[in-house]
Amino acid sequence: MKIVLLGPPGAGKGTQALRLVENRNIVQLSTGEMLRAAAAAGTPVGLRAKAVMDGGGLVSDEIVVDIVSERIDAPDCANGFILDGFPRTVPQARALDTMLQQKGLRLDAVIEMVVDEAALLARIENRAREAVAAGKEVRRDDNPEAFKQRLEAYRAQTAPVSAFYGQSGRLHRVTGMLSIEAVAEEIDAALDAVTV
Ligand code: AMP
Repeated sequence: MKIVLLGPPGAGKGTQALRLVENRNIVQLSTGEMLRAAAAAGTPVGLRAKAVMDGGGLVSDEIVVDIVSERIDAPDCANGFILDGFPRTVPQARALDTMLQQKGLRLDAVIEMVVDEAALLARIENRAREAVAAGKEVRRDDNPEAFKQRLEAYRAQTAPVSAFYGQSGRLHRVTGMLSIEAVAEEIDAALDAVTV
C-alpha cells in the first residue's frame, strides 16, 4: 500500500506511521528524518537543508522530490510505503503523482490528521521533554520559535495539499486529537475501505 500521511507538526504522524509500518509490512519514508540524516552526515544537500530546517522553514521542492524519488526505488519499498512529511507543497504533490506514474505506481490513500492547533505547542514541548528524559538529543526545531515558523509553513503551504487531494477524492480525514489507539483505529478503518 502507498500512503501519504498529512498533518501539522506535532500531530503524531511519526507515531502513527510506525504503527502502520509494523502492521502493514510497509516502510516509513520521513523526509524530515532523511534530511536530518543528510545534515548529520554533512552531505552537500544536508548542509544546504540544515539552516532552513533549523529556522522552521521548508527545504526546496527540488531537493525533497529528488530524495523521495530515489528512495522509492529501493527494494524495501516494493511492498509499499508511508510518506510522512511529504508532500508539503502542492508542487511536491504534483511531482509525486508524476513520479509515481513514471514508475508505474499509484497512491492508494491520503490520510490527514486533523488536530487542534492550540494543543500542538504543548505536544512539541512534551516531545522535547521526553527526548531529554530518554537521554536523546532534542530536535533543533522543537522550540517555540521554530515551531511557530513550522506551523506557519504548514498553514500557508501544506494546508492546500489537503485540498489538492480532496479534489481528486483521495483524502481521508481522521481526528488526531484522540488517544493514539483511537486515532490508529480511525486510520485503519479508512485504509481498510480502500481497494488496492
Ligand atoms: P519533520 O520531521 O517532518 O517535522 O520535518 C522537519 C523539517 O524538515 C521541516 O520543518 C522542513 O524544514 C524539512 N522538511 C521535511 N520534509 C519536507 C518537505 N517535504 N518539504 C520541505 N521541507 C521539508
